[in-house]
Amino acid sequence: MFNHEPADYNCIFCKLISGVESEHNKLSDIVFENDLAIAVVAPRWWPNNKGSLLVIPKRHYENIYEIDDSHLAAIGIVSKKLAIAIRQTYQGCKGVSTRQHNEPIGGQDVWHFHAHIFPRYENDNLYFMDPLDGYTSAKDRLPYAVKIREHLLSSI
Ligand SMILES: [Zn+2]
Repeated sequence: MFNHEPADYNCIFCKLISGVESEHNKLSDIVFENDLAIAVVAPRWWPNNKGSLLVIPKRHYENIYEIDDSHLAAIGIVSKKLAIAIRQTYQGCKGVSTRQHNEPIGGQDVWHFHAHIFPRYENDNLYFMDPLDGYTSAKDRLPYAVKIREHLLSSI
């Protein structure tokens, strides 16, 4: 419903879910996985909110209009786990924000549903800033991935 995905779309999130890396999405970015959802350190960051995460359903849905209830519920449950992990492990983090975009006017740029989870800091101006130009490297992302994975392992 209200689709914008091209017919020949080569989905980078479906690739990653099947274990295939792409230029900006590596297996080392994965911080959590269950039957319904996967979570990764986002490859693009906002200047004051580095190490933000993405929660992605393991089945391909373009947007919130079409995602099924079980996958949507899983996104919420995984988001909660990750919000706590960010809040407890990112130094100086004083809050967490989530957001999710649909259609180009809504700011969507990957045609596979995903929710963002941002660490928040005093005066970070998240909603008034553009993302940093370009993409982070897997090496930049790794320390954040390690923190989150270690926290999740220790909280089982
Ligand atoms: Zn996909």
